[in-house]
Amino acid sequence: MQRTRLFTDADNTLWDTNSVFAAAQVGLLRDIETEVRSTAPEGSDGGLAFVRRIDQRIASSHPDHLRYPSVLLATTIAQVLAGQDPEQAVDDACGGDDLTKRFARAVAQYERRLRATPTLRDGVQEGLADLRRSNVPVTVLTEASLDRCAALIEAHDLSRFVSGVHSVRKDAGAYRALREHADEARLVMVGDQLDRDVDAAKRAGFLTIYFPGGFVPSWNRCSSVTADHEIQRFDEILSLLHR
Ligand SMILES: [Mg+2]
Repeated sequence: MQRTRLFTDADNTLWDTNSVFAAAQVGLLRDIETEVRSTAPEGSDGGLAFVRRIDQRIASSHPDHLRYPSVLLATTIAQVLAGQDPEQAVDDACGGDDLTKRFARAVAQYERRLRATPTLRDGVQEGLADLRRSNVPVTVLTEASLDRCAALIEAHDLSRFVSGVHSVRKDAGAYRALREHADEARLVMVGDQLDRDVDAAKRAGFLTIYFPGGFVPSWNRCSSVTADHEIQRFDEILSLLHR
């Protein structure tokens, strides 16, 4: 096998962040419903789709993208529950003092729930051990907090399989910079997001592996991007590298 370095996304690739977000988002909806005494339309998912529609709309227009401040989600949910058109509510959303105060407890509770430790996705432990045995160095790339990512690697006892962790905005320029600093002939990127993990890496010459997870943001639903490979479990990676 030619000398290879594997880069892997963290959230929803190594671990199931989506389930943690889903539980926190539904919890936030319940808390806001209680606060404003109005309920979201009944849904079999407990209101998750209702919250996610609002979440995706905010993320699409916010400069911090999916990392926008939690209070915006709380206030926009409240406005939509009060009958405002969702599109308009997102445009009007603001974390003004009164609203921030009103929903402070719900937002704190939401952020506490988001700190729950997500479970590992299928085959991650085994797949990383296989890569280690085959001397394929693994670097974790996250757009989230470096400290949080490092803490989760530690919590899942994965440190011995990981040679580095970087927090970067994953665009083609960032992948090109990684390429310049890597000695290996073949660089591989695995992840669950077609835009950041596949398209941007592919444009920088990486071999790409798509590992679909439970979270597909609205802007990726009609994507025409295709990866070089697609896997259902993380421990399918090594055999792909031997082809
Ligand atoms: Mg991800």
